[in-house]
Parts: sequence; C-alpha cells; structure tokens
Amino acid sequence: MTATILEGAAAAAVILAETAAGVGLLAAAGRKAILAAIQANRDPGSDWYAAAQAKLAGANGVEHRLIRLPPDAPGADLLASVRQVSADPALSGLIILTPLPAGASHLSLVEAMDPAKDAEGLHPANLGRLLVAGRADPAPCTAMAALTLIKTAIGNLAGKRCLVIGRSAAVGKPLALLLLSENATVTIAHTRSDLGFAMREAEVIVAAAGAAGSRWRAYEARWRAWRESGGDRPEPPDIEPLVRADMVRRGAIVVDVGDNYVPAGLGADGGPLLDAGGKPDMRYAGDVDFAKVKDIAGFITRPKGGVGPLTNAFLLRNVVRSALAANGIAIPGSGK
Ligand code: NAD
Repeated sequence: MTATILEGAAAAAVILAETAAGVGLLAAAGRKAILAAIQANRDPGSDWYAAAQAKLAGANGVEHRLIRLPPDAPGADLLASVRQVSADPALSGLIILTPLPAGASHLSLVEAMDPAKDAEGLHPANLGRLLVAGRADPAPCTAMAALTLIKTAIGNLAGKRCLVIGRSAAVGKPLALLLLSENATVTIAHTRSDLGFAMREAEVIVAAAGAAGSRWRAYEARWRAWRESGGDRPEPPDIEPLVRADMVRRGAIVVDVGDNYVPAGLGADGGPLLDAGGKPDMRYAGDVDFAKVKDIAGFITRPKGGVGPLTNAFLLRNVVRSALAANGIAIPGSGK
C-alpha cells in the first residue's frame, strides 16, 4: 500500500481564496492589508523565508514591508520597532523573523506587540484564548496548517488517538490544543518520551521536532571546538529521520512539520563532506522517513510540500482578517 499524499498547496489554495475575498472587501473600502516583518539578522534561511513570504503576499494582494535592523541591534531597538508597528494603524500584521541578536528574547518581543497584529498567532493572549476557549483569532499558523491537513484525511477526529511529537509553544502545544478542541485523544511526546511506545497505537502522528537538525547543530559546535582545541573527538550523532517505518501503525495519518538541514555524509574526521565549491554538502530532510513510511501510512505529507505552503497561507489569512477587523469590515463567514 502506498499512502495518499496530503498536498499543502491544494489546502493552501482554499485558504488563499478566502484571503482574496477579504482583500477584495478591503480594496472596495479603499484599504489594504500590510504585513510588516522585522528582521535583525543576516541569516540566509531567514532571508529565504522573508522573500518567500513577500512573494506570496505580493501574489495575493497583501503588501509586505521588511524592516531590517542590524544583526547586533540592541533589545531596546527591537522593542521600539515592535511598538512602532503595533501603533501604526496602516500596518495590519507583524512577524518577527529569527534568529534574533544574541540576548534578545523572542517572548518579550511578541508580548510587546498588539495581539490583534500577531500574524503568526503566537502572542500569549492569543494562545491563552486557544487554551481557554479552544479557538483563537489570530490562529497559530503552523498548528492550523497541520490540523487542516489531518482534517483533509479524516473529517471527524473525535476519539482518534493523536500523537504530537514536539512541545514548543509555537507548534506542538497549540496543535495539541487544536486537536483537543476536535475531541481527539492527544498525547504529546518530547525529548524525554519513549517515542516507540507512544507511536505504537497512534492513529495520527504529527512530527514537529526538527530532531536530526538540532542534533547535528549541537554536534557541529562540539566538533568545531574539537578541531580548534583538540581533546576527545565527539561521537557523531544519529541524523536519520526520527519517525521510521517500523514505528508507525499501518494506515496512520502522518504529518511532517520538521525541517532539518543535515550533511549528505561525514568525512573520516567526523566533519561534513564538502561540495564542489568546498562548502559543507547539506541536504534537507523532514522528521519522517518519507520513502519508507509512505508504504505503511494511510496518508502522509511530502517533505516541504505539506505544512510549509499552508503555514504561509494561514499567515496571510491572519493579516487580512486583522486588516478587516481594524477597518470595521465584517470578516466573511466568521460572524465578526
Ligand atoms: P523547537 O526546537 O522549539 O521544539 C522542538 C520540540 O521537539 C521540542 O519540544 C523537543 O522536546 C521536541 N524534540 C526534539 N527532539 C526530539 C526527539 N528526538 N524526540 C522527541 N521529541 C523531540 O522547534 P519548533 O519551533 O516547535 O519547530 C519544530 C520543527 O518544525 C523545526 O524543525 C522547525 O524548523 C519546523 N517548523 C516548520 C514549519 C513549517 O511551516 N514547515 C513551521 C514551524 C516550524
């Protein structure tokens, strides 16, 4: 059996159609939605993410404004930027791009923003509403993306045994709350969990750990220190996908959120193999061993093609809904 692929692009098209309706209502009132992104780094991954969001926003009638600060910007400057965006009535949504300058607190910055402009749905007031009321608006984008994909596979989650691997405030915990709101029976696994045991009975598995990538980054730092200072050479980590075929129940719904950048191979000295240009030859992988798990699962997301495109669609949805609310325009279908 080969699993049915859960396509993020198809689900994103539905969300973007809703967004387009909102953009149309704003235009009719002579208004527009504007997403501000604060970036205080020179990180290629962050640049790529900002560019992808700008492109999607532009293609869907939402203006994107990148506010670039130096990578060593003091916390006070970052806070001032967040407050400026929050106070500017022309701006509808805000995202704070990571990594942040050393010492800056992501939570403090998110807490300083107007919760109504929280494009990612990560402000404690919005997550708190999810905890208490079972829903939030703005909604946490990645968690909403994962839930939407699961619901394209199975409409009714009541009583379904769902395993969320990862307990971050950005993905794992909000997703667990969303699944609870759907009456699922939810287990959250993390670094101290017996994953094999938790997976055995799971009918739905969402992997949001980024396990191989974080193991690799921790090892690489130790390996570089060893090269510079000597001592005992560190033991290379396991950088194989976290969710393997022999752990997955036949027919399960498997959603992969994890992003991992790991070397294509290791050299004799334990360092990454290099590409033709002399740079580490890195490859992208999810948390799930897609090639093998697809023969066991009933439904599965592809690496990169599942949650990612849908997360960005939910980001735009939050921004457009915020612009509609700020302009006193009823949000289609929400009763607001
Ligand atoms: P995080 O590092 O804040 O949290 C990772 C969580 O996974 C932690 O709770 C940790 O306990 C758990 N974990 C790590 N290794 C584990 C292991 N071996 N076994 C069990 N649990 C383990 O990361 P995050 O922000 O929650 O993101 C998770 C992953 O999802 C990352 O790879 C991130 O890049 C990716 N992500 C993707 C999207 C998208 O749109 N595709 C959006 C957000 C995050």
